[in-house]
Amino acid sequence: MLDYAPSTNSPMLTFLDARCRKEDLTIDHSRILFRRVRLRERISGMLHYAESNNVCRGNIIQQYFGENPEARCGNCDYCRQRNKLLLNDIEFNELKKKVKTTLLKPMTFDTLLQKAGLMDNAKVVMGLQFMLDNNIIITNPQNEIEWNDN
Ligand SMILES: [Zn+2]
Repeated sequence: MLDYAPSTNSPMLTFLDARCRKEDLTIDHSRILFRRVRLRERISGMLHYAESNNVCRGNIIQQYFGENPEARCGNCDYCRQRNKLLLNDIEFNELKKKVKTTLLKPMTFDTLLQKAGLMDNAKVVMGLQFMLDNNIIITNPQNEIEWNDN
């Protein structure tokens, strides 16, 4: 049997295989939903990486891939800033913990030093300045210091 199609200038589509019947087409809705959820997770992971400025970026990547980082990388932008401090990691983490547990409500710099039992020395001031610069702690309009939960 011969199937003749006269020539035309309109666009034409030639199916090389037999077309699938509508009844045989299936759409896996659960798979689409799964892929949508995964896409959202990946996007939020990227945003977290891009927007974080108070965590080691190497650690963010490790956590994204399900690893539990033991130490910061020392090379990312956060770590390079952190390396300039007079405080080592143990001292800094101790200071951060003291500040966090003390800052249950906003307070002035002096009250924070007093309540947290911190000395007004170069190390502490530098550590607090670093926390301010990296939005770990923030100042409110009343010029009080607050712990930044974001
Ligand atoms: Zn790092």
